[in-house]
Amino acid sequence: MTGDPAGLADPADAVRSDSAEERSSRAATVPDMDRFLAAAIAEAEAGLAAGGIPIGSVLVVDGEIAGRGHNQRMQKGSVVLHAEMDCLENAGRLPASVYRRATLYSTLSPCSMCTGAILLYGIPRVVVGERRTFQGPQHLLEEAGVDVTVVDDPRCRELMTDFIAANPTLWNEDIGEE
Ligand SMILES: [Zn+2]
Repeated sequence: MTGDPAGLADPADAVRSDSAEERSSRAATVPDMDRFLAAAIAEAEAGLAAGGIPIGSVLVVDGEIAGRGHNQRMQKGSVVLHAEMDCLENAGRLPASVYRRATLYSTLSPCSMCTGAILLYGIPRVVVGERRTFQGPQHLLEEAGVDVTVVDDPRCRELMTDFIAANPTLWNEDIGEE
């Protein structure tokens, strides 16, 4: 574990992956962590636009996004597709060796279920957009040696603050509370 807040592959990998994707001048200058958190936020916003709970997630492997997803409680009537679970599902079946060099980004602190998935697959790094509106069992990740970075991003906070204020019952359902 290092104190590197990005916790990602070396910059050369990111440059290489950029050249294979859409390359904008902005993407080339924004640090990897911001770029990937921005992708998770875009997922959250897509979920909100579709009538869902605005939480997004991306899985990053070797400087590239290997999967992305967002909470599907409303859209699919799913009780398990939190953003992180939807992201992992969309990334598809991966060898253990791939999870073990991955970083999972989530716009919100992972809940117990998603924490369990992170531990199950041995994902070593997690970047959390914010944990003020909901705090999952981060200590379980840290006790297992997972490197957790909390960004405290204002857009992540705003998405959840607005959603919870407008939909308190729905939010409580998502986190298993009355
Ligand atoms: Zn969850």
